[in-house]
Amino acid sequence: MQVPFYRHSLSRADAARVADVLDTTFLTSGPVGRDVEARLAAFFGVHHALLTSSWTTGAIATLMSLDIGPGDEVIVPAMTFIATANVVELVGATPVFVDVDPDTLMMTPAGARAARTDRTRAAIPVHLYGQMADVAGLAAALGPEVAIIEDCAHCFEGRRDGVRPGRHSRAAIFSFYATKNVTCGEGGAVISNDAALVDALRKVRVHGMSAAAADRFSAGGGGFRPWDMERLGIKANLPDLLACLLPPQIDAIDAQLVRRRKIAKRYRAAFAGLPLRMQAEQAGVEDAHHLFVVWVPPQRRRACVDHLNANGVQVTVNYDAVPSTAYYRERFGGANHFPVSFEWGAGCISLPFFPGLADPEIEHVIASVRSMCDAALA
Ligand SMILES: *Cc1c(COP(=O)(O)O)cnc(C)c1O
Repeated sequence: MQVPFYRHSLSRADAARVADVLDTTFLTSGPVGRDVEARLAAFFGVHHALLTSSWTTGAIATLMSLDIGPGDEVIVPAMTFIATANVVELVGATPVFVDVDPDTLMMTPAGARAARTDRTRAAIPVHLYGQMADVAGLAAALGPEVAIIEDCAHCFEGRRDGVRPGRHSRAAIFSFYATKNVTCGEGGAVISNDAALVDALRKVRVHGMSAAAADRFSAGGGGFRPWDMERLGIKANLPDLLACLLPPQIDAIDAQLVRRRKIAKRYRAAFAGLPLRMQAEQAGVEDAHHLFVVWVPPQRRRACVDHLNANGVQVTVNYDAVPSTAYYRERFGGANHFPVSFEWGAGCISLPFFPGLADPEIEHVIASVRSMCDAALA
């Protein structure tokens, strides 16, 4: 049996939504996107949501809107996708890596506090694999001068102490990339309660222009309205052609979570006695269950991955520690100051995990992981 790492669940009904946008005159950011932004703000209980072309462009626009740049430091976890650190590099600021907690694999308030300097302007905690970092604790530990920007690429539908992302931070940023829990192929969103930040973001999202295309032509009968470039920005808006795919998924996300939770429970129960490590479950956290990751001793990972692949089970790695990649080794010297992140990153394996996974596929993954332990970890 072949079990893919991921299978999307978009359908012909979604194609019809794209066709509806094609029937209008407007392909880029317009009424469809504005409707999605209102839905996102309502879902998260925040004042503002802005769609972006990706998490990455949304994060760059957010950092630019906060005037974070050369000379500034931004605290990021060493265990995350490279994008979390890259956006800091791209605006000319300095990413300051911190190691993660060995059980939760996420940034801690104490770790962030220890990395704080006079130059620290922001911290980007990552809700890794769908769990949630302690954002309220981070805000308390770092103080009001440091902007907390949540990396919610893995955590759309999660909660911590009953609270969704966006409540304790300056901004929370989502990814709608192809494999994320809510997807339109490529896309993202920034949510925030900070009106000044959102005002700036609206402009920075479209080259710092005072009015976006829809607004430039929307006034009375589609007449042209003049605009100015008020500040430097990038092109980070999401077209309606993609935004139209999001509403049905936002409506279904909490129901999908029931299925994700069920598969995660089945995996956890089946793997409990095996020589594998898994991310700890935290009391009070409702996991968004984006990825299911197991850890094997790094020197055995190649053999384990080969065994799973030979059984038709497609897997991937999320992630090698960011400071261990070639670019950041070159940039910061490559010394391992982040033992937890380096060790986890060298041994982690992400298993097939998505709501459409059929029961026989789940059982095949479990049988393959069991035989992997016998064959490669005995
Ligand atoms: C996917 C991902 C991103 C980047 O998202 P894009 O929409 O592809 O820019 C950032 N952070 C994490 C943790 C991710 O998994």
